Amino acid sequence: MPKRTAFLGKTLAAAGTAAALALATAVPAAAAEPTAVEQDVAQLYQYVIDLYNGLPADALRGVDRLIESPIPRIGPQSQAADGPIPGCTAGSLLTYANKLASQLTPLEGKALDALSGLSQLYVQGVASDKTPQVFGTDGQYTPRATTTIDKLRGFWDIESWNIQLVAWKGTDLGSQAKMVQTFSLGLAPAKVKAAAALATKVLYEVPAMQGGRNPLLTLNAFSAPAGSLGGKRVALGDGLLDTVDVLGFDDVSVESVVGHEYGHQVDFAHDNHPRNESAEMGPDAYGGYFVAHAKGFAWNARTQQEVIYLDAAIGDCYHSHGTPDQRKAAGAWGEKQATSQANPNRIVPSATMIEKFQKEYPKLMPPATAASRG
Ligand SMILES: [Zn+2]
Repeated sequence: MPKRTAFLGKTLAAAGTAAALALATAVPAAAAEPTAVEQDVAQLYQYVIDLYNGLPADALRGVDRLIESPIPRIGPQSQAADGPIPGCTAGSLLTYANKLASQLTPLEGKALDALSGLSQLYVQGVASDKTPQVFGTDGQYTPRATTTIDKLRGFWDIESWNIQLVAWKGTDLGSQAKMVQTFSLGLAPAKVKAAAALATKVLYEVPAMQGGRNPLLTLNAFSAPAGSLGGKRVALGDGLLDTVDVLGFDDVSVESVVGHEYGHQVDFAHDNHPRNESAEMGPDAYGGYFVAHAKGFAWNARTQQEVIYLDAAIGDCYHSHGTPDQRKAAGAWGEKQATSQANPNRIVPSATMIEKFQKEYPKLMPPATAASRG
């Protein structure tokens, strides 16, 4: 049984209702005194909420997360306007993440929410690629990440020199200096030092956080536009890479995910902000085009298949990021654009690619789904 409601993403919205009811009945009549750890977690959680509330108005605007996973739940959240799509099964990555989340106690979940929200703000507002970025818990993904962003910058015809690729690491939560910088983004200056110290304390006081190595802390990636806190950037979470590895897609993880997130930058550059599933399916298509293209990674048919199964793994069953089937179809369409070109070395201009995908996208939607959208 899921033990917490704050943690539940839209993928578990229905289950969340059941969990809330279960929790309501489980509350004892006379609550025991909170333990020292509980007090620390509650105080940290409040600091992080105050921090989010103190951010500049546009700080988080337009930031696009890879999955609408449970984490982080502090800060703005997109709405699950409709119920789950009948007959749809959520992708394996979401199922796995939700299973991990359901194993946390309410205290662990609250600590995780606070710390994950904090680490996201660090990577969005403080981290910079001016210092060498280390991808993967042991740095094992750094060469692939570097190769991928270099290729992408040369591949798409958008302004690229100022799109940073930054590593999203739970272990950054253990650095006092980094936490002071993060809380300084929005918390009252008088509270910053204590809040930073508490973040690191909770990181080690709650063993489930694994000192920042619990994959749920950073089980995501995101793309942020110009004008948001920290400016144009793609962030790649260590927890996401670890999880994609567990699920068997390690061969293609960095290239697919960064290719997808960079696809959002392509849309940002052209002011293309669709308010439907094509907002996520488009980057899947551009990413597919990139990995299959002779001037991208020129991946073979087998590897292209692996990419579209990873696209499916992050699909959900709500009218938001695309279902597993839709995302798979979008990725496959993009790959086909690369492999069926008369001149394999020609790169379709990004504006043309957006236009082509917007024409194609209604065909990749099941009729019932397409018709239900306003
Ligand atoms: Zn995305």
